Amino acid sequence: MKVLVLNCGSSSLKYQLFNMEDESVLAKGLVQRIGIDNAYLEHRPGEDAPKVTIEDEIPNHTRAIQLVIEALLHNEHGVIKDMTEINAVGHRVVHGGEAFAGSVFITDEVIKALEANVELAPLHNPPNIVGVKVCEELMPGVPQAGVFDTAFHQTMKPYAYLYGIPYEYYTEHGVRRYGFHGTSHRYVSKRACEIMGIPYDKAKVITCHLGNGSSIAAVDGGKSVDTSMGFTPLEGVLMGTRSGDLDPAILPFLMRKENMDADQMDNVLNKKSGMLGVSGISNDSRDIEAAANEGNERAKITQDMFCYRVKKYIGAYAAAMGGVDAIVFTAGIGENSKPARAGILEGLEFLGCKFDPEKNNTRGKEALISTDDSKVKAYIIPTNEELVIARDTKEIIEGLNI
Ligand code: ADP
Repeated sequence: MKVLVLNCGSSSLKYQLFNMEDESVLAKGLVQRIGIDNAYLEHRPGEDAPKVTIEDEIPNHTRAIQLVIEALLHNEHGVIKDMTEINAVGHRVVHGGEAFAGSVFITDEVIKALEANVELAPLHNPPNIVGVKVCEELMPGVPQAGVFDTAFHQTMKPYAYLYGIPYEYYTEHGVRRYGFHGTSHRYVSKRACEIMGIPYDKAKVITCHLGNGSSIAAVDGGKSVDTSMGFTPLEGVLMGTRSGDLDPAILPFLMRKENMDADQMDNVLNKKSGMLGVSGISNDSRDIEAAANEGNERAKITQDMFCYRVKKYIGAYAAAMGGVDAIVFTAGIGENSKPARAGILEGLEFLGCKFDPEKNNTRGKEALISTDDSKVKAYIIPTNEELVIARDTKEIIEGLNI
């Protein structure tokens, strides 16, 4: 079975074509600047193959997906001979709200439910829905599945997902913690259990997805019981440009002081805060590390803030679960940044986690970074959301007996 995985953003589209017989990547790529000038597609006919760049007018997602199909079929850099070789399409969908606690076969009813969730993810869900509709048009009859960022966290209990505001805001407007990066937290927590050789349904794992957007999750017995992102991906730890947790009273205070309206305040919190806002240098942790190494004081504070806040979540989630077996690092910063992992894990001996600086001297691949005698294991586990989407899609399609 061959499964095409699509992740449609507002102006970009990522894709991977999997051969599910051996879970190999037949092709992968990225369309950038959809609906903007100088649009292009970067295509790789294989995981490590050199990339081919195709420049074209790409006014919309229909043209973008058409170009992806053309690249997959191309007589030089293509990897399939016929469209019918694509057995299914799996879509990453950001917000499933309370309607979806797992991945689903996409029907007209599902599309309606997704449209009803647009208000919860106004930037992300519309392009996801467009992707589904365009595939229906270009590949009629090919089954499609939706895999949601929020679904894994639907196992949280009300005391973990409700906010301390009037209950009607939850029942009337859906204001509650949803959590994001669920596909990643699910993959790496499960993988940690495979590595440790302990049953997933018996393990307590804290997963730290640290990228441009970061979230921490507490996974108890294979179920997410809490996570740091909330109603939107703004809550939680310090991120590239997002503030993370802050006293909500700061918002009206600043709006009055700086004469900002709600949209301007929202923009500050999402685009101008986080590492960028505190450091005044960059949203990229590599730039912050470089500046801190050169003695830049604000860069140093930013690094310390980032680590301190993740550490606090680890402590909180160990308490929430009544213990922890493993702490896992993933995504851009989690997989690559040695100082970030060190700053987070140092001083957690009281919790049973003994950090090993030697073992931490690695990046981008699966590794144990706690000492051999550490009761709580710490791991780097590169995430693979596309593979999870492909696996879920295969499982759903096989279940349909198509
Ligand atoms: P996204 O949330 O956009 O998917 P990623 O998971 O790709 O983000 O993470 C991107 C971030 O990872 C970058 O902004 C950068 O801060 C960080 N990063 C990537 N490589 C390194 C590295 N070698 N050292 C430190 N940080 C890194």
